[in-house]
Amino acid sequence: MPTASAAVNLQCRTKRRHMKRFLATFVAAVLLPCATVKAQTMKERTTDFEQIFPQGGKLPEQFSQYFIGQAYLAPVSRSAELGTNISNVTFEPGCRNNWHSHTGGQLLICTAGRGLYQEKGSPARELRPGDVVEIAPGAVHWHGAAPDSWFSHLAVECNPASNVDTWLEPVDDGQYAAAAASALRAGSSDTPHGM
Ligand code: MN
Repeated sequence: MPTASAAVNLQCRTKRRHMKRFLATFVAAVLLPCATVKAQTMKERTTDFEQIFPQGGKLPEQFSQYFIGQAYLAPVSRSAELGTNISNVTFEPGCRNNWHSHTGGQLLICTAGRGLYQEKGSPARELRPGDVVEIAPGAVHWHGAAPDSWFSHLAVECNPASNVDTWLEPVDDGQYAAAAASALRAGSSDTPHGM
């Protein structure tokens, strides 16, 4: 009987060892990679919008007070010698800035996603990567993302030595929805006839 008992003990120890090895393998092979993937997913959640330029941090309060929704800002050029500030501005879906104007004018160079631009008294325009918007000095306008898409543009501050921005009223939900609906309709008519 002692022999049988020893054999059972040995069997139990062997099982425990197998169980330990199984747990170690399970943790290493399954749980750790899951945790890593989860960490990456969380890290990428704010930056998974694919674009060429850095997304940067959340728009500072001095500007975000004039936006509806979340926007991000990354400086692209700040050369004092060249005197032209270029920023990459990223808008989450539905995000737009208030009606506003720039005394020096502004250039928007669209780089990713789908957005909207509207000048006071004109229909809204759909913006796609590669589109350029030349905003005349003093023209009242707003820009932002489409309701269902992230959007990025480079914003070039023109005549920066004398430029002054004037911020006006927000683009309310009704104005924004109407702009999106009309710009999307205008966009869909671009499809060549017969296709
Ligand atoms: Mn502007």
